[in-house]
Amino acid sequence: MTVRRGPAEHRAVALTFDDGPDPVFTPRVLDILAQFGVRGTFFVIGKRAEQHPEIIRAIADTGHEVGNHTYTHRPLWLLSPRRTREEIDRCASVLTAILGKPPRYFRPPWGQSNPAAVRHSARVQQQRIRWSLRGEGWLPLAAPEMIVRIVARRLHPGAIIDLHDGGGFARTPARLVAALPDLLRLIQERGYRCLTLSELLPEGPAAASDTTLSDRAWACYEWAWNTWFGVKRFDRATLLTLGPAIHYGPDLILRDGTIVHPGAQVGELHLDRVQVMRLHRTVPQYRVGFVLRRELEDGLRRLAQRVIEHQPYRQLAAFRSTTLFWQEATRLGFEVCVHDIGWHHRVLSWYQRLLLVRDHPLGRHRLRGRRWEARTIWLSRQELLRRYAEQRR
Ligand SMILES: [Zn+2]
Repeated sequence: MTVRRGPAEHRAVALTFDDGPDPVFTPRVLDILAQFGVRGTFFVIGKRAEQHPEIIRAIADTGHEVGNHTYTHRPLWLLSPRRTREEIDRCASVLTAILGKPPRYFRPPWGQSNPAAVRHSARVQQQRIRWSLRGEGWLPLAAPEMIVRIVARRLHPGAIIDLHDGGGFARTPARLVAALPDLLRLIQERGYRCLTLSELLPEGPAAASDTTLSDRAWACYEWAWNTWFGVKRFDRATLLTLGPAIHYGPDLILRDGTIVHPGAQVGELHLDRVQVMRLHRTVPQYRVGFVLRRELEDGLRRLAQRVIEHQPYRQLAAFRSTTLFWQEATRLGFEVCVHDIGWHHRVLSWYQRLLLVRDHPLGRHRLRGRRWEARTIWLSRQELLRRYAEQRR
């Protein structure tokens, strides 16, 4: 079992810092924590720990806890079971060599596990930890004030708060250091204590190994995928989910004149696979296409409503999705963009073909007679509002 939060009985939270140690930012984080008399847990990357053992020692000597964040921070869902075990074990042995004892806690990169990590972390008695509050929110370049505001809004007893003292986006640790004093002041003013994970979580053996039946493994990868892209459902009633993304390509000029600049925040749309499967189960085969289209239109209407009502959504210049069904999507107002962003498309083509074979009753047959290649489709915010905003009843 993955732990996401501590017991809610006491006014206490655990601050967790990922992706260090960083020779510049980790010592500054330690200084600030010391000023406030506060302890936290550092999920460090084994390779970096190896390069800066003195920082690891400084973390532990000042009463903080050190956790396992794998050796290289590769996304686990891309790794074989054997490589996954190596990632966990190699980081653990680096930490054991420096600190004289193995880590108690393990956080996979981006919080996303795979079946091998689930089994192995249980076997080596490292409790898997996620978070209940992501301090940097779902905007990867949250400004310091934004970090404080996010925590202020979502702080709750037993919270496990995810922050970054290293890596991530280049400016993330600098922004954290800028935000940290205000953040700690806020937490203390509200009467919360900051504890290490060992202090926050009740004593108990690491959770027993989950059975890795094919479906469970699949759900796990699915979840990993969503976590990797930071996907969340913006409206429970729809099968569209939305995640944050940055446009990395060249300037993109959409039909209605919207220009998406490199570095712009865009929304990444996905289909909620569980909902799509529910549809396959409950709707007669010949109607699936029709119902799916109707549900997607409804999802886009709800998204348009969101954009009108909630400020953060208005910062998104456009929405994109990468899909095998790009021809169908053009009927919903999307346009196809030809510029290729490489491995992302190949991985997605592969993944979506797999889903198609697996989930669709006629899966294998559907794959024949058409070039199944994923394309990125775009819908500008303007076009979304024009097509879908007023039509909501
Ligand atoms: Zn990380």
